[in-house]
Amino acid sequence: MPGSLVGDGLLVDAFGRVARDLRISLTDKCSLRCTYCMPAEGLPWLRKADLLTDDEIVRLADIFIGLGVTSIRLTGGEPLLHPTLPAVISRLASLRPRPELSLTTNGIGLVRTARDLAHAGLNRLNVSVDTLDSQRFRELTRRDRLRDVLAGVAAAAAAGLRPIKVNAVLMRGSNLDEAPALLGWALRHGYEMRFIEHMPLDAQHAWSRDAMVTADEMLAMFGDYTLRPIGHGADGSAPAEEFEVLDGPGAAEWAARPGRLGVIASVTRPFCRDCDRLRLTADGQLRTCLFAQSETDLRGPLRADDTEAKLSNLIRTAVAGKQAGHGINAADFVQPARPMSAIGG
Ligand code: SAM
Repeated sequence: MPGSLVGDGLLVDAFGRVARDLRISLTDKCSLRCTYCMPAEGLPWLRKADLLTDDEIVRLADIFIGLGVTSIRLTGGEPLLHPTLPAVISRLASLRPRPELSLTTNGIGLVRTARDLAHAGLNRLNVSVDTLDSQRFRELTRRDRLRDVLAGVAAAAAAGLRPIKVNAVLMRGSNLDEAPALLGWALRHGYEMRFIEHMPLDAQHAWSRDAMVTADEMLAMFGDYTLRPIGHGADGSAPAEEFEVLDGPGAAEWAARPGRLGVIASVTRPFCRDCDRLRLTADGQLRTCLFAQSETDLRGPLRADDTEAKLSNLIRTAVAGKQAGHGINAADFVQPARPMSAIGG
């Protein structure tokens, strides 16, 4: 029953997957220039007139919730650059049924806003910290902001946002040797460390399979730790393969609350079969896969005053056509035109 709706109107694709998680990109701009993501000079940014307004974001989110979406992640680009972020969160938190709200951020400016975001209704967040070394941070992100980032992570914890997940993309010849130190730091602070395989979504198209650090290689670096595999989250649809960290170096400092480690191995251990994610770009295009070659324009119909029923049908049709898998490992794989920063990670 390809693309049909089951009983209560959920979004089901041709492979029986139910879309529950919507990632909304608030901007394609970023305050960092991570070498594995975008060039030093930045990118041709989206035009302001093409960006969804807050009203449009909330209206679309409401429609997605009506179609069964239960969690919304705000991302970018860098979502903290969005000038009215607390208001957007507060408006999303007032939708019913209330979605779970999370944020993926580089943490710059979080020290000033974490409390407001939590008060507005944000439930949890992921912060990207690729290195704890300030010189290396400057080289990797082309900005001297490590201190701000770490202050932001601490502020998020103080504001009660839980769990705090810390993302790091491990790159050979850069931060790979720091993986155990990052894990040790996260365990001491009660953060969940997640290591991500580099994906062919960089604006420079410089990704290479040979240079990529694989999940096997990452996990081999944690030989000093006792890890217990616990799968892909409670419902099996989380991108991270998770491990409980039962013992390891410095365990006396964190043994009272055993930590977690996650590996996001999109390339070598694809998890598309259980994917429940949809993505809405900052300019209102619906993508059913990070690696999709096509998008569904929701902004045009929204601005043409199309009815909720018409927009819902557009979304249903897009989900019905969701591809089986990302295809990175197929011989005919072609990287999508939009880079990660303009899709929403
Ligand atoms: N600016 C925010 C941040 O830094 O978390 C949100 C957007 S960023 C695109 C989301 C995540 O994607 C970050 O953890 C970043 O490191 C990761 N990322 C960016 N480019 C990537 C790539 N080509 N492969 C894998 N992860 C990537």
